[in-house]
Amino acid sequence: MATWPLSDMHTHATAYRLAGARPEMTVASMARHLESLGCDYAGIVEHLDSAPKHPIRCLEDLVAEFRTVSSSCALYVGAELDFEGDGISVPSAPRLKESLGLDYYLAAAHGVGEGITSTRAYIEDHHRRLMGIVEDCPYVDIVAHPWVEAGKFAERGLIEAWDWSLIPERYLREFVEAAAGCGKAIEVSRKVLPIADDPAFRAYLGLLCDVGGPVTVASDAHSLTGLGVTTPLTDLLGEAGFGPERLWRPERP
Ligand SMILES: [Zn+2]
Ligand SMILES: [Zn+2]
Repeated sequence: MATWPLSDMHTHATAYRLAGARPEMTVASMARHLESLGCDYAGIVEHLDSAPKHPIRCLEDLVAEFRTVSSSCALYVGAELDFEGDGISVPSAPRLKESLGLDYYLAAAHGVGEGITSTRAYIEDHHRRLMGIVEDCPYVDIVAHPWVEAGKFAERGLIEAWDWSLIPERYLREFVEAAAGCGKAIEVSRKVLPIADDPAFRAYLGLLCDVGGPVTVASDAHSLTGLGVTTPLTDLLGEAGFGPERLWRPERP
């Protein structure tokens, strides 16, 4: 059995946000927690989107603290973008990546999409947005949690029903091949664990494995609970045929 590093490329330092902040989620305390777990490397981010609680200033505060923290866990700093409508909701994102010296960007297609009430329309819109992230956003490094929020939307009655098997195989293939073609990593988030045994989800992991692009594992933790807990995800990847060489991490000069 291959030895996997312990990594977590999607963790939220929420202490800096303007609403719903968790004071314990500073870069420094997250770094200490990751170190105590023996984490090899991790990425610390916050949302950078159009929500009033996530102004650019909060990300600047996070980055400023990040520059003062050292850790035995190799740390990277980035942000999570939102592909909303026809594009990334913060048009200055490419410039900010450079000016703030961010190591990477995640991007996700959050929410059900404007005006969408049916599962069928959700599938079309989510696929379209995932493809937009892959094809139109060269500055994005990781596609975060594709499809995994849909179950929550069905529970809330925002779409009629959800099951991974509803996603057309050709859409999954198109997405995975396009991401591999431009070297973007696809995230395997802790949010997939409830459906880890679903045969349709396993088939997707098999496809992801066969196509050969990079992947990341992520807790998407917003609190210390769950931060750095990604071993169930690397176990899942191992079972699907992946090796640790498939894990993406930012390059540093
Ligand atoms: Zn997200
Ligand atoms: Zn997130």
